[in-house]
Amino acid sequence: MMPNRTKTASNDAATGAGALQELRSRIFQHLRRGHADMCRHWFDQIDVVAVDGANVSLLMTEPVRLSYLQRCCIPQFTEAACAATGRLIGVQFVAERGLPAGLPLPSATNAPVAPAEALFDEQMPLSPDYVFETFVIGPNNRLAHAAGQAVSWKPGRAYNPFFVHGGVGLGKTHLLQAVCQDILGRNPSARITYTSCSTFMDVFHEAVRAGRMHEFRHRFRNADVLVVDDIHFLSKHEQTQEEFFHTFNALYQAGKQVILSSDAAPSDIPDLEERLVSRFNSGLVARIDRPAYETRVEILRTKAGLHGLRLADDVAAYVAARIDSNIRELEGALSRLRGLAMAEGAPITLELAKQALADGRPADRAGNGAPQMTIQQIIEAVTRYYDIKLSDLMSKRRHKSVALPRQVCMWLARKHTRFSLEEIGGYFGGRDHTTVMHAVRTVGDRAAKDSALSNDVERIERSLQSAPD
Ligand code: ADP
Ligand code: MG
Repeated sequence: MMPNRTKTASNDAATGAGALQELRSRIFQHLRRGHADMCRHWFDQIDVVAVDGANVSLLMTEPVRLSYLQRCCIPQFTEAACAATGRLIGVQFVAERGLPAGLPLPSATNAPVAPAEALFDEQMPLSPDYVFETFVIGPNNRLAHAAGQAVSWKPGRAYNPFFVHGGVGLGKTHLLQAVCQDILGRNPSARITYTSCSTFMDVFHEAVRAGRMHEFRHRFRNADVLVVDDIHFLSKHEQTQEEFFHTFNALYQAGKQVILSSDAAPSDIPDLEERLVSRFNSGLVARIDRPAYETRVEILRTKAGLHGLRLADDVAAYVAARIDSNIRELEGALSRLRGLAMAEGAPITLELAKQALADGRPADRAGNGAPQMTIQQIIEAVTRYYDIKLSDLMSKRRHKSVALPRQVCMWLARKHTRFSLEEIGGYFGGRDHTTVMHAVRTVGDRAAKDSALSNDVERIERSLQSAPD
């Protein structure tokens, strides 16, 4: 491999750097092979800076990423380092070049090295995946996103409190963490307390039990920004609600920012004191809805990109059309897809996507015991019948060749599923309910006069009714 012996022997420093580079690439090769799911595109920025008998030292200067590596990635990196060196060796992640590799390893639960992170609640660390750059904006979350950005530019002065609500897996935690990381990016010494509501409650009960309320108050009332995820858990907990009310007031009066997320709007959280409801409503309340088809496609692309993957258009279109419940399920599908591609050593094609999603078919929301069609089945039947591409059907194209099949889909969805007009519109690239209504009327009217169209529709319906599931 080394073309020139003299060069190798004569330049020790250069050989050292070269050897570290080579070790680095071998470690990452093993990681990508064995732990593709864990790998992120920013792993490119990790350097191997030292190696001694006991440890390989890896450098990451960005504090949230460093903390994530220390918490979540040591076993996988250790395995890769052992495979790459052929020795039993440990790994350590360091924040600075030149830190001797022999220093004790930070334990997984230790507070990270960076000063800003030292104030974090250890139990709720931030994820480097949850930043604004990876948050896809769509009609479903536009307001929440814009407000989140405004809050991170001017904490305490834009919207206070900032209250985000929405169903599971729709991006509340992602948005909250993006705001935290954005504030820290601008002002690394900002004191951010980011916690889940259940941690807040646990710490409160522990403080009461141990007679350490003073510490508790110090901890939660001295933040510049208090972020509590899933605040609906306060429901029914009167004593904690009382304490939270005072925490809220102390911060609010001091002009500090409060950010909350919940699965329901303030007034819909059961058994929440009226005075808290009115506090929560007094700033900006933003709802996150389910993402429309186009947003789902974009999210899939972004998530794939995070793992250094490019999804073909037809694959993204297929998965996004197939899974519409929440984004966590979309990610699950992507992960299944990656797993299957790895296992078969095959590229991610539409065929593979169909195979990967064959089981785990999402439940039919329209179901009431009677066999029901899903929009997905309708779409498949219509694209097959008219021989058009799924991505065209979902696109904004208005050409007759796709506009009519799209309208037929909407008409069938209206007739055979229980989705609302809005939901059907959301399915077809975020079209609003008036578009769906128009489509339903057009197909109905035209089919009454035009026997070719009514034949087409009947044949599609028959093919759907005789479908195996
Ligand atoms: P919630 O807290 O509302 O239950 P999360 O924030 O945990 O939901 O989101 C679930 C998953 O979906 C996360 O992996 C998150 O990154 C992803 N996700 C949600 N919304 C978006 C979005 N707009 N863009 C990109 N990813 C998103
Ligand atoms: Mg959450």
